[in-house]
Amino acid sequence: MQEKRISKKPGYSLLTVDEEIHEFVSGDSSHPESEEIRKFLVCIIDSFRDEGYTPHTSNVFHDIDEEEKEHSLSYHSEKLAVAFALLRFKDRRTIRIMKNVRTCRDCHCFLKHVSGKFDKEIIVRDRNRFHHFSNGTCSCQDYCLNFCLGLDSTKVEAHCASVRTSRPPNLAAKELMALVL
Ligand SMILES: [Zn+2]
Ligand SMILES: [Zn+2]
Repeated sequence: MQEKRISKKPGYSLLTVDEEIHEFVSGDSSHPESEEIRKFLVCIIDSFRDEGYTPHTSNVFHDIDEEEKEHSLSYHSEKLAVAFALLRFKDRRTIRIMKNVRTCRDCHCFLKHVSGKFDKEIIVRDRNRFHHFSNGTCSCQDYCLNFCLGLDSTKVEAHCASVRTSRPPNLAAKELMALVL
């Protein structure tokens, strides 16, 4: 398990604005505005908590405690990208993000809240599909999430196998951005 954790490729998100690409890596604080982004992100998450948002920690490794799970979820790359976009590009209605791995349940829920509360359209192209968040909902209608929560292991396995085979090839970042734009 430990080895798996170390070799796991970090998730990253690319945000494009006016042909400029901003890269965010999960849990990474090397971005020049990292401190400001993280502070803002914590404020947003806390405000959502008051409205009933609870971080979904079930996708996180189970060998760490609940507080740490929430902490590691808080800095997933798409959350950092969205916080940065909200801070920096206040006038824009649409936020476009490309993510190299699948968006987790918690980020999916978080992005729905952001689209509703900040009146933003958010388009995320993750490893498996497009998500278009608007008015607190997503175009995928939580397809994967509901399916996997059905807890029918045969169905889930078949579904995951089909997702694996229909996955887009591992394209270069530039090619992936072309899919989003
Ligand atoms: Zn996440
Ligand atoms: Zn979705």
